[in-house]
Amino acid sequence: MPEYVKRICGSSSTTDKEVMVDISVDHEEHHPFHLEISILSELECLICRKYMFSPLQQCMSGHIFCTSCFDEIQECPICRKPKSNSRCFTLEKIQSWLLYPCEYEYRGCTYSDTIQVIESHQTVCKFAPAPCPFKYRNNNCRWRGLHSDVIAHCKRVHSENIFTSPRKMFTSSIEKKDTIHVTVFEVFNTHFQFCWCLDKVTGYMRFVTYCLDETTVATNFSFQIVVFKKNSYFNAFFLKGPCHSYETDMDISDMFNDEKCLLAFFDTFNMWCDEKGDSKYAVKIIKN
Ligand SMILES: [Zn+2]
Ligand SMILES: [Zn+2]
Ligand SMILES: [Zn+2]
Ligand SMILES: [Zn+2]
Repeated sequence: MPEYVKRICGSSSTTDKEVMVDISVDHEEHHPFHLEISILSELECLICRKYMFSPLQQCMSGHIFCTSCFDEIQECPICRKPKSNSRCFTLEKIQSWLLYPCEYEYRGCTYSDTIQVIESHQTVCKFAPAPCPFKYRNNNCRWRGLHSDVIAHCKRVHSENIFTSPRKMFTSSIEKKDTIHVTVFEVFNTHFQFCWCLDKVTGYMRFVTYCLDETTVATNFSFQIVVFKKNSYFNAFFLKGPCHSYETDMDISDMFNDEKCLLAFFDTFNMWCDEKGDSKYAVKIIKN
């Protein structure tokens, strides 16, 4: 064993359980983060190779797995021994001191933070592959890419659903068409994703608007929906609410979360339809 390597565990024999640390100053490979990187690599789940988060669960021999893989397996895939109920508390404690790289490091993100913080960073990381804003519309666009490429993609593929004036009139039959509507507004030098969904079980319609650009403060903007009386431009009713920040990992329930949405009953909306069953409504993006 080279002189600059010392065992930091009590035993004098060399086993693969021992952790070695380089304490030399001049050695060319010396790097203050080597130990941390080595520990992090030990915290990769043996099945899915992603970093494991607390609780760290193990088999009877001590092989550790992430919670989602652990829940899936019947026995340890490494040693075939049964699963254990015990947790690895020491490793969980060490884990809480480490800085984890953002999972989008391979796409260029250089951010790292403790396990408690890194997950919330990853939901807004600009290197996360963002889904297409039209993902949930009836065409179910499967595109994913850099957050900074989202608008270019929308302009290329969904240009018929991008509007450049802050107020847009819609005339459509809500029930016959898709139950999720998405429109992008390119106004005030920024981009907004206006969406509504119809929950056919409860009869609720949910309306929400997201600010797609990271540099824009969403709370500086609001949106308004005006529903018109049948065959006229007299207001039947209107709704107004704040815009929200877009997060790349939102699924459909996050997107239409009740705390962010304006709610209206479909029956109320439908009451003002014309004879063809078409509703007439306008959406307006407002700078506060
Ligand atoms: Zn796993
Ligand atoms: Zn095992
Ligand atoms: Zn990141
Ligand atoms: Zn798309």
